[in-house]
Amino acid sequence: MATSKHREDTSPDTSRKRVCTHRTGGSSSEDAGNTDKSLTIAILDSTPDSLIQPGQDVQSGQNIQPGQNIQPGQNIQPGQDIQAGQDVQARQDTQLVQDALSLAELDRENQGPWEAEYSYEGEAYLHQQYEKCVKNPGHKKFIPVDKFCIDDLPEGYRDKDHVDYIKLVSDLTVRVTVTCVSDKRPVIAPDNGKPYPGYRVRGRRRITFGTGIVIFANVSKLSPDDTCECKECRSSSTPETNFAKIHVNTATHVVFDELEAEHTTCHLFFDKGRKLDECGCVVKLAGMSYVHNDISKDTCEIIHFTHDLKLANKLEQMLETMDSLGDTIFTKKPRHYKFKLSPTSMDKHPLLCIVSHPHGCSKEISLGRWISADKWNNQLVSFYYTAATCPGSSGAHVFVMQDFTELDIPEPMSTEVHCGASVSQPGHNYCNTESGW
Ligand SMILES: [Zn+2]
Ligand SMILES: [Zn+2]
Repeated sequence: MATSKHREDTSPDTSRKRVCTHRTGGSSSEDAGNTDKSLTIAILDSTPDSLIQPGQDVQSGQNIQPGQNIQPGQNIQPGQDIQAGQDVQARQDTQLVQDALSLAELDRENQGPWEAEYSYEGEAYLHQQYEKCVKNPGHKKFIPVDKFCIDDLPEGYRDKDHVDYIKLVSDLTVRVTVTCVSDKRPVIAPDNGKPYPGYRVRGRRRITFGTGIVIFANVSKLSPDDTCECKECRSSSTPETNFAKIHVNTATHVVFDELEAEHTTCHLFFDKGRKLDECGCVVKLAGMSYVHNDISKDTCEIIHFTHDLKLANKLEQMLETMDSLGDTIFTKKPRHYKFKLSPTSMDKHPLLCIVSHPHGCSKEISLGRWISADKWNNQLVSFYYTAATCPGSSGAHVFVMQDFTELDIPEPMSTEVHCGASVSQPGHNYCNTESGW
């Protein structure tokens, strides 16, 4: 069993610049150890299951009470676009949007190393969060999936099979949207004793955006009497008998338990445009169930029941093609790339790829190198890599263009999902694993 001492240190990075202009000093919306009674805490600890109340004021240094009114002309922020003649309600609406954006910004900055994206205003402003990105301004290391081509691959990997493999991974990648935060989220991460993401807003309706990947799809039934278990069929006297199951793997800190899974929607094929409605080919999988999570490894498998057999068959076919293509590309990987726990400066590192939805916007591909791993008690506990990630990348499948079978070890990097930005290795990102060596 991995220990907290040697797993990736997930201490919140307190050195990062805070850009929010509305917050009071020193508080963290998810920092369980923080005693500062800030505005954020005041709001988040207010009535459970409530969003920001009309009239709440987020001026610095004030604890805002629900129902507090904004007076005409009050609390207009620099840069806010208030037109002459705009009525009080419009000003309040504008203020509420600003407040919601500020809260999401605080949550994003103070979530520690994890990389989910947050919103209190649906997804209307995700593109703004993308454009204001602090970690990867301009997102120059991300490749929009509809622009990805062979020239993006480094020497040794530049062939059609690698391109096709990455495109299949991309097509199976989903955006994960969770519209509530479970009140079962722990105060600390069990494995390392650090503040657990979402604890401060447990029981509320904040939206979390992450990434996942379809890992299994089938239309076959275990028995002829099996019936669909989607939400409609569960309350129907005649549940559908022709159905399919689509399994998605993501991060536990994105989808924590059954309650959150019920409020989870996965979007397939969100491949272009900043906004969901700008992409005409998106397929929506609303409502998930059957959570199998591993908090230490930070993986979570969820299942969507569907009557769309055509979609399930398509996904099943893509998975089969990806498997066989994987076997092909692994046999012709560059021989001089080595997978070592502690590589030297002379070693070349295998190519690593992550497909994710940065900031909850459309899917992008990032390429980097597998760097190293932490190992404790004969167990691998964390992998480190250079592939670029952002808030919204949490839960993305992490895959290395490397065959591990010749090393006579269980294949790592097969079910691991992206966790966040490493604290112990600044500049690198990481995922956790429990693969025994
Ligand atoms: Zn970003
Ligand atoms: Zn059904």
